[in-house]
Amino acid sequence: MSNLDREAVPAVCGGRGFVVAEPVRELLSPRRVKLGESSEVRRLLPNLGRRMVGAWCFVDHYGPDDIAEEPGMQVPPHPHMGLQTVSWLHQGEVLHRDSTGSLQTIRPRELGLMTSGRAISHSEESPRPHARFLHGAQLWVALPDSHRHTEPHFEHHAELPRVTAPGLKATLILGSLDGATSPGTTYTPIVGADLTLAAGADVRLPLEPDFEYAVLSMSGEAHVDGVPVLPGSMLYLGCGRTELPLRAASDAGLMLLGGEPFEEELIMFWNWIGRSQEEIVQARRDWMEGSRFGEVKGYEGAPLPAPELPTTPLKPRGRLR
Ligand code: MN
Repeated sequence: MSNLDREAVPAVCGGRGFVVAEPVRELLSPRRVKLGESSEVRRLLPNLGRRMVGAWCFVDHYGPDDIAEEPGMQVPPHPHMGLQTVSWLHQGEVLHRDSTGSLQTIRPRELGLMTSGRAISHSEESPRPHARFLHGAQLWVALPDSHRHTEPHFEHHAELPRVTAPGLKATLILGSLDGATSPGTTYTPIVGADLTLAAGADVRLPLEPDFEYAVLSMSGEAHVDGVPVLPGSMLYLGCGRTELPLRAASDAGLMLLGGEPFEEELIMFWNWIGRSQEEIVQARRDWMEGSRFGEVKGYEGAPLPAPELPTTPLKPRGRLR
């Protein structure tokens, strides 16, 4: 998905100053962002109080939306650089097209992983016909400086490793959990896992003390380290944990996101991640001129124009907390 926020302002992310070294329980409320005419997403990252969790730098939760009589998701071609996008569905399907020639339908609990490297463009749409309900999350992972100019490519992994315990089914999206490892390509120490809890579940997940973590709730009534986390909210957990207690009063769907704190400071603007204002200005110029980001074939509709850059120079904002 794209950041369709027309009021886009640059955000400075990353750096050790944002990381909480101890275990914490910090509930993040979503910001509601309009996508197009009718649909709305809940944005958890970047958040007023928190910009990143490991290399995870963007989290939108959407649905469940009844799109039986609607076109559903219609995100026209738009560019990315310096990041990976993760498409993750609980219901429905998304048709992905990109400038490397990919054409892939992504279904619930299949991984659609797009590595933009230096430049890519893509579109995302609900296929016709489509399932009645659409429910999912769109996430971005920042690429480290050593790999951010890599060749753009797309991976689709329909079969992902699972870890099970009484009342818990965990699907590995990226990285490793309890000995299981996702086949998705990663560039920093990171984990993403889908957690399905059955009503009455009372489990403990093993964690890496060097990672920082957060849990996004997508459905149901779950308690994360004793804190009730409603669907559409995310609990930031800090670092220094070796395990995480999870309980569910009803069937619940969660996402565990974690990773080594991202040390590099970066600048996010619209759908781009760079390291300087000049890089963002150049990306915007290239996209508006139709160069560098390639062409998405087959999407019915015009590409998205980039929002205007603010006239004031982008500057690091310093610590937020
Ligand atoms: Mn996108």
